[in-house]
Amino acid sequence: MNTGSPPRPRDVPNTLGLHALIWADHWDTEAAERSIRLTADAGYGLVELPVLEPDALDLGRVRRSLGRAGLGVRCSLGLPFDADISSADAAVVARGEDLLNRALEASAELGSPLLTGVLYSALGKYAQPPAASRGGAAGVLRRLADRAAPLGVDLGLEVVNRYESNLLNTCADALRLIDEIGRANVKVHLDSYHMNIEEPDFATPVAQCGPLLGYVHVGESHRGYLGSGHVDLAALFRALVDAGYTGAITFEGFSSPAPAGLGTTLAVWRRLWDDPGDVAVRAREYMESLLAAAAGARAAAAPPRPGHGTAAPRPGHGTAAVR
Ligand code: MN
Repeated sequence: MNTGSPPRPRDVPNTLGLHALIWADHWDTEAAERSIRLTADAGYGLVELPVLEPDALDLGRVRRSLGRAGLGVRCSLGLPFDADISSADAAVVARGEDLLNRALEASAELGSPLLTGVLYSALGKYAQPPAASRGGAAGVLRRLADRAAPLGVDLGLEVVNRYESNLLNTCADALRLIDEIGRANVKVHLDSYHMNIEEPDFATPVAQCGPLLGYVHVGESHRGYLGSGHVDLAALFRALVDAGYTGAITFEGFSSPAPAGLGTTLAVWRRLWDDPGDVAVRAREYMESLLAAAAGARAAAAPPRPGHGTAAPRPGHGTAAVR
């Protein structure tokens, strides 16, 4: 809990997280340790660590760094095309299953309760629609979920826009695949940057997910400073609070120069900031103000209950990140 001064306006229990690559233009154990320190310094409760190459990190060292910083962790990756479990090529699917198994082991070793991202297909722009069978995606993810359950790890399927996968572009797509997988530890991961492109609005997908919403990324329309683009973040946070979502909410921003590979895949060509520390702190403050405003609006809309908190929404609050 936040007991320092000044008090933070938190009425809901979501832990706020930061994607580690905001700090890094390359990725190795030293970069991970530095990201962990800086994320804690910026006031976040958890850090999201990529496990694109699960063997590239000294997991023991990274786990000790997380402990020293007192940070929670979530692990993520997107599959490469040569390890795409939605492929019709069985050898490609097998490579993908092997990579996911190693990423799951890394997640468990780091203490992450979630392995998430584009686990179901390649992360990248496809030149054709998906195979009707979705390759081996449902079967591989069912086996992965069964291995993850005794480790206490949930799987997240991150819904991304049409330029980053051909398989799951909407929340409804993810819910259909989860239904086919049929395992309780597979959840939907929504991201405002992608929702802004593919969904009708920000409230509908959150309501569609209900208790299957397992993780949320918050990103701007250009993936820069929160509040400086046109994503309706107030609507998203109202929907999360109205749905009773108590999971982690992680800010994800990218600016050039980004790490090779992922930066190219995500088309991170523009320099959107000079000081990642400033972006990180402002994003946290902005998300806190949005959560407080959403909680206040919900309390104000509820029938009065004697003795219940009545924090009013504060018009004009929460614009600090605009620049
Ligand atoms: Mn994301």
